[in-house]
Amino acid sequence: MTEHYGDYEVESFLGKGSIGKVFLARHRRIGRRVALKTVHLETKFEDEEDRTEFYKRLQREAELCGSMQHPNVVTLYEVGYDGDLVSFLATEYVDGETLLARLRRTRPLPLDEAIGIATDLLRGLAYAHSKGIIHRDIKPANILLTSDGRAKIADFGVARPLNSSLTATRSLVGTPNYMSPEQVKTTPVSPRSDLFSAGAVMYEMLTGVKPFAAPELSGILYNVVNLVPPRVTETNPSVPDAIARVVAKLLAKDANQRYATADEALSELELVDHARAAALESGELGLLTVDHGDDTTPLSTIVDYDPTPSPLRREVEPPTFSSVAVVLVAPLLA
Ligand code: ADP
Repeated sequence: MTEHYGDYEVESFLGKGSIGKVFLARHRRIGRRVALKTVHLETKFEDEEDRTEFYKRLQREAELCGSMQHPNVVTLYEVGYDGDLVSFLATEYVDGETLLARLRRTRPLPLDEAIGIATDLLRGLAYAHSKGIIHRDIKPANILLTSDGRAKIADFGVARPLNSSLTATRSLVGTPNYMSPEQVKTTPVSPRSDLFSAGAVMYEMLTGVKPFAAPELSGILYNVVNLVPPRVTETNPSVPDAIARVVAKLLAKDANQRYATADEALSELELVDHARAAALESGELGLLTVDHGDDTTPLSTIVDYDPTPSPLRREVEPPTFSSVAVVLVAPLLA
C-alpha cells in the first residue's frame, strides 16, 4: 500500500535526514514531485519543554524558509501538520546529487565547476541574508546539485534535536569541519559565519581536502579555531592565486576580517573569475593581474597538477580539548 503524508504519495526513499526519513513523493492532485521530509524523532526528549522548543523552532524555521524564493535555494512548498505540530516539510525535489556525493567521486573538482558551485552558493546566501536568515550549517551534504550544474542550498536552519549528548555526538559526525570559529566557541553567529563555512566548502572543492580535518572531533574543533590552513595554491597550484585569496579571506578567524557580505564575496569572485576567463581567452594567463585597488594579485600560471591527496595536514596537538568538545558543541546544534 502506498504511504501517504497529507496529499503526498510516497514514491521512493531518498535518504535519512536528521529529523526523519526523506522521500520522493508526488502530490496526488497536482502531480508535483517533492522531497518530503518527515518528522520522526528517534531521540527521546528530556522533558516536555525540550519537545515544545523543538517543534517551535521547526515551525519558526518553516515560516522563514517559506518566505524564500530563489533559484539557489531549495524552495519550501508546503508544511504538513499533525494537530499543531509540524509533521512534514514538502520541498522542491532536486533531481541530482549532493555536493558531498559529487566530492566522493571527484576531488578536487575541475576549477570551472568549483567556481560555478561557489558562485551559486554565495548567491543563495546573499539572498537568504537579505531576508535576515542565517543558514548556520553550510556543508557539502546541504548543497544540492541539479543535473544541469546549478547548486541549491538545502536545509535552511531546520531545527535539530539536541537533547542528548548521544544525538549531539552523532549529529556532529562530519559536520564541524565547516563550522565557523564563533560557532565552535559558542559566541554570537552572524551572516559572516555562513561565509566562513562557504570558504571551507570552497577550499575542499578546490584542493580535495578539508581545511580543518583531524582524526578526532577535538582536533577539528581546535583546528577551526586556531589553524590557518595551507593556501589553496599550495595544495593545488592550478588554482589562480586570486581565487585562493578569496578563499583565505572567507576563512579569516576573525569574522570582521572576512567579506562584509555574501554579495561582496560574490562580486570579488566574479571579478577574479572574469579576469581568469579573459586571460584564458587571450592566452595570457600568468601575465595578468587583478586590480584590487591598492593591491594587485598576480594570477598564477597554470601548471601540471597531480591530484593525489598529499599528507599536507599540519599536525595540531589537540590539547585538553576533547573532554569539553561535546559540551562546547552541543548548543551549536540548536
Ligand atoms: P537532514 O539535513 O535533515 O539531515 P538531508 O537534507 O541530508 O536531511 O536529507 C537526507 C537525504 O535526502 C539527502 O542526502 C539527499 O539525498 C536527500 N534529499 C534531501 N533534500 C532533497 C531534495 N530537495 N531533493 C532531492 N533529494 C533530497
